[in-house]
Amino acid sequence: MIEMNNVTKTYKNGVNALNNIDILIEKGEFVYVVGPSGAGKSTFIKMIYREEKPSDGSITIHGTDLTTLKEKDVPHLRRKIGVVFQDFKLLPRLSVFENVAFALEVIEESRDVIRKRVMEVLDIVKLKNKARFLPDELSGGEQQRVSIARAIVNYPRVVIADEPTGNLDPDTSWEIMEILENINRNGTTILMATHNREIVNAIKKRVIAIEAGRIVRDETRGTYGYEK
Ligand code: ADP
Ligand code: ADP
Repeated sequence: MIEMNNVTKTYKNGVNALNNIDILIEKGEFVYVVGPSGAGKSTFIKMIYREEKPSDGSITIHGTDLTTLKEKDVPHLRRKIGVVFQDFKLLPRLSVFENVAFALEVIEESRDVIRKRVMEVLDIVKLKNKARFLPDELSGGEQQRVSIARAIVNYPRVVIADEPTGNLDPDTSWEIMEILENINRNGTTILMATHNREIVNAIKKRVIAIEAGRIVRDETRGTYGYEK
């Protein structure tokens, strides 16, 4: 469960990105975060994986209070949260296998455990046959699938995706959605910031709309609600 109480974020330069945000997201929900550019979607999402800290208010993720979380405990929090970016952020010199294994090597799992788990998640994203490829030998959709595999390898309870289909063509975007829905069916909470009107209107989920740093809409089976 993710809870924000009266969260405000003002950046160092004085920009007020979020105001008095109150939100409750239950375990296993699939939530789209929509709104115009500059509305505060990325800031909202970054606060959940502690890339940014609120200026005021409190955030709790599965019982962990982020307001009082010590820096040394941030890596532990990050293991409960998988993150997927618009531009994939894969390590270019590492193979698909190594990109996904990285998060497990950090926590010193044995080679056998790593091998088994990496091949398991590559199977989920249908990339077992490309384990030895380098990122730039893959299409954009395949690179995004690697980044999803990397995000779920540690069995996170929450997957956060910041415009995961932003760099992909429509067909590839639907494939990515199918994978995210599959992960969600297994009980993982998904939060996805998106500008993809077609997807939001076709695959009906909870929609949280942010405009000028405030939640202006929160609908159980919502629509995109913007022209573009
Ligand atoms: P969105 O994801 O909806 O486009 P953002 O959360 O990226 O919105 O941005 C919200 C506001 O905060 C914008 O005015 C943006 O310019 C500002 N902003 C975002 N990141 C920073 C930062 N690191 N420092 C200062 N201002 C920022
Ligand atoms: P898309 O048209 O979907 O962007 P690409 O044309 O980039 O896809 O790639 C098509 C297929 O060829 C993909 O499965 C990709 O893994 C493979 N591929 C692309 N570039 C290389 C490469 N340099 N070496 C090996 N395989 C590649």
